Amino acid sequence: MFIIGLTGGIASGKTTVANEFAKLGVPVINADNISRELVEPGTPALQNIVNHFGNNILDINNDLDRNKLRKIIIQDNKQKIWLEHLLHPLIAEVISDKIKLLNNSHPSPPTAGTSSPSIGRGIRYCIIEVPLLAESQHNIHVDRILVVDINETLQIARAKNRGQEDIQELVKLQASRENRLKIADDIIDNNGDLQELQKQVVALHKKYLGLKC
Ligand code: ATP
Repeated sequence: MFIIGLTGGIASGKTTVANEFAKLGVPVINADNISRELVEPGTPALQNIVNHFGNNILDINNDLDRNKLRKIIIQDNKQKIWLEHLLHPLIAEVISDKIKLLNNSHPSPPTAGTSSPSIGRGIRYCIIEVPLLAESQHNIHVDRILVVDINETLQIARAKNRGQEDIQELVKLQASRENRLKIADDIIDNNGDLQELQKQVVALHKKYLGLKC
């Protein structure tokens, strides 16, 4: 099984793309979800965060106050790096365990070159959605990088549409569109509608099923 790292800027459409692959039967691992699980109440990572930032980083339910933490790391790069050093190795470890589990539970991939859109009994490839693949150091092994590309005007409009107001600051923290595209093996252009996105996912799925890597 080979691994596709799916990345893109904030609100570029990564999860929408990942969901389309999942509909085709492709296993999807989401680094953001793992990151959330790692800081749930009672976890060692949350305790570390509280020790570092103080009890104020918790909300009234003793959950991590994500908005507060986001504001801190937008303003202070040192804190952003501290948090990445804490979480990235843990995220990489969980991802590696999940990949091992997938490999063990589906040991016999079908022959490469099949034109069938279905994956069959084995798994040819899986997707790992990693928002910051272009920005930070990760120990996450990927065989190819798929970038979801979107122009900044549309990116900001879609983010605001779902109620995100600090989008401009977050975009500034991320890699430029140009630098992200430089690391891409494949690109999904998400400047169109959902139908156009789906078509590109189906085409890539066929391509991936035929790859030998
Ligand atoms: P995040 O960076 O927060 O994880 P993301 O990159 O996963 O975001 P999505 O959540 O998939 O992006 O998409 C952002 C928003 O844009 C969502 O509201 C989604 O429904 C919408 N969206 C994505 N693609 C399209 C499209 N082609 N046409 C219209 N809306 C879209």
